[in-house]
Amino acid sequence: MAAETSRSTFETFFESACTSLGYDAATFELLLLASREVRAELPLHRDDGSIAVFNAYRVQHHNARGPYKGGLRFHPELDLDEARALACLMTLKTALVEVPFGGAKGGIDCDPAGLSARELELLTRKFVERLHRLIGPNLDIPAPDVGTGPQEMAWIQDEYSKIYGYSPGVVTGKPIATGGSLGRASATGEGLAIVLETLLTHRGEGVEGLRVAIQGFGNVGRHTARALHERGARVVAVCDRDGGVHDPGGLDVADVVAARLRDGSLAGPTASSGASTIVPVDNASLLELDCDVLVPCAVSSVVTSANAPRLRCRYLLEGANSPVTAEADALLRRRGVEVVPDILANSGGVVVSYFEWAQNLQQVAWSLEEVQHRLRERLQRATLQVVEAAADEGLSLREAAYRIATARVKEAFFVAGF
Ligand code: GLU
Repeated sequence: MAAETSRSTFETFFESACTSLGYDAATFELLLLASREVRAELPLHRDDGSIAVFNAYRVQHHNARGPYKGGLRFHPELDLDEARALACLMTLKTALVEVPFGGAKGGIDCDPAGLSARELELLTRKFVERLHRLIGPNLDIPAPDVGTGPQEMAWIQDEYSKIYGYSPGVVTGKPIATGGSLGRASATGEGLAIVLETLLTHRGEGVEGLRVAIQGFGNVGRHTARALHERGARVVAVCDRDGGVHDPGGLDVADVVAARLRDGSLAGPTASSGASTIVPVDNASLLELDCDVLVPCAVSSVVTSANAPRLRCRYLLEGANSPVTAEADALLRRRGVEVVPDILANSGGVVVSYFEWAQNLQQVAWSLEEVQHRLRERLQRATLQVVEAAADEGLSLREAAYRIATARVKEAFFVAGF
């Protein structure tokens, strides 16, 4: 069997969407292949005097619906293949939630935890030095992804503005101080909660009392925990790469978040709370805990054909991009686990990126209430479209979401011509 990579996963889902829409092989190929793929070498003088060389990538998949859009990932395992799959996902995500963007993804194959702040800044600025001709407010707009955040976006914005003049719209997910939007930092987590709530309400259920386990406690995982807790869910387990905590009775989310921000680790609440029901958990065992909703918010391909038979959740909400392989997806469906696909579930981030970009272009700033209201409206609409299409045509949520998004991209691509 071929390796269960995010690339093979994406291609499997995308090909079946194209087939079910009646597209021929040439059309599938045309929609699948990226418009442009770039690799650049980034040499760095390390603090200790040595020289290290990293690879920078940017894959621009499609721009038929608007400028290329998608995150920059700083992760040692990033390669062109992964960036390709993630760029295609962005094209479908922006189409599904109807924001006027295409799709892109890229980053640097570095481990930010192993670099000093100075090294990270130099590397980020070098990325712009090498690739600035390819990005821009009307061309390609990067944003945070795994291993990056507002600080990296501020460096990119600054470096780009040195060449092209004041250009806040060149990146989204910036600090508020340099033109970022209120509500962007919490948008992906908030969006996950809105999508789940909309889906469950449609089914006559609710979020209240649901037991939730969250893998990954970076920006997305943290805000998901808070947003679901606020809606009455019981967050029973959280973890990141250094370990985590499990309490079947429900964790004190504020305490866990505070400990993570204070200590940089999730081990704190276990030791300090003294509650005997709290036990340690790691990334692999968290996935197999007894819960109602499992939310993988870390990296790709964590649920595979090897562990899918052991999952004990009812719903799997894809906070990360491509956390479930195609083989695992089929297995989960047979077992009655409902998967809420990434291009819908975690789309809150790019929706508020769009709001940020729109505010930048008009040089205005919206209130938090306005951002949240607009986010809710868009995500509820997209969720109901997917849920209704799935019910009408007997599809999984992923099949329905892919079909809707693919048809929109294809229409834009062909109506404009090439
Ligand atoms: N990295 C996020 C994603 O995968 C956000 C992308 C963006 O805002 O452009 O959706």
